[in-house]
Amino acid sequence: MPNNATFSEIGKAIADHNSFAVVSHVRPDGDAIGSVLALGHALEQLGKSVRYLNNDGCPKSLEFLPGSEKVEISGEVGVLEVEVAITLDTAAHMRIGEGSLEAIKNAKLLINIDHHISNPGYGDLSYVDPNSPATGQIIYELLISLGLPVSRISRDSIYVAVSTDTGSFQYPGTTQRTYEMAADLVGRGLNVGKINQLIYDNQPYRRVELMRALLNTLDRSDDGLIVWWDLPMATKNELELMDDDSEGLIDFIRSVHGVVVAVFFEDLDGGKVRVSMRSKDARVNASEICGVFGGGGHALAAGIRMPGPLDETREKVLAVIRESLKRAGIS
Ligand code: 5GP
Ligand code: MN
Repeated sequence: MPNNATFSEIGKAIADHNSFAVVSHVRPDGDAIGSVLALGHALEQLGKSVRYLNNDGCPKSLEFLPGSEKVEISGEVGVLEVEVAITLDTAAHMRIGEGSLEAIKNAKLLINIDHHISNPGYGDLSYVDPNSPATGQIIYELLISLGLPVSRISRDSIYVAVSTDTGSFQYPGTTQRTYEMAADLVGRGLNVGKINQLIYDNQPYRRVELMRALLNTLDRSDDGLIVWWDLPMATKNELELMDDDSEGLIDFIRSVHGVVVAVFFEDLDGGKVRVSMRSKDARVNASEICGVFGGGGHALAAGIRMPGPLDETREKVLAVIRESLKRAGIS
């Protein structure tokens, strides 16, 4: 990982410019959208002009977040005349997607703020902290350290970013600082019960139907160490699924006793397959396994977009997982 910029260098870049685009990775999750809203709104509070971008727009499941209506689909905005583009939660520049790459191509300064260990530190200023469990937590530290305003919108967005990326403050990456941050956000008026209900008790019935379909494809290795399920295109069409409907469902199979690696295979348009992977053992590095196929992410949660068909993709990926389990001395 290359040298990080300091918060004060980022603060100076903010102070020296007036127009910004804040953007995150394709198929955004809570950390991606939450970080974009949290930082974007702080910039607006400073009187800056801010465009909120995502290649795929804001997913329905996050529309409860105040400010989310400002997130524009990058492919619909043309090339923006902004001075600064800030990518958030985006491990590789390309992962903002083609529409976003085009929209921000005239920005004269690119700032990259992220927590993925695989982030090479692209951009003119980059701040990558793999020890932070969510990009939202880095945004919190940035706002506090620079004395920037933490508005109601930024407060709620940070909480959603960190809660969703830590599995409700459960994953091993969750730190003392994460809980201190959450306590501070509650102190600033965050309604814990209400926001958690909006995040977690608010799913469309369609998602439960998806769970039923996935369970019908459930399979595992003879030794029980690997468990997986498939989402073929036919099911996506039949259930009229939205991109984010499958978000987080893999947690259900990861939770099985004895499972070390859980994998989810999903058909994408254009014959590609999305692989979503979770490891429960630090000796089996999901990011490295996914890296074999050009993907990446975190040690315990990673992903790939790779060529299909799904059946072949599954066999290739399972073979590398088996290798990794063997090398770790687990099987
Ligand atoms: P998820 O399985 O929830 O989609 O993603 C888990 C983690 O893996 C996220 O941190 C995400 O950034 C990373 N990830 C998912 N898909 C890809 C991919 O296609 N390429 C890379 N480099 N990382 C990915
Ligand atoms: Mn994240």
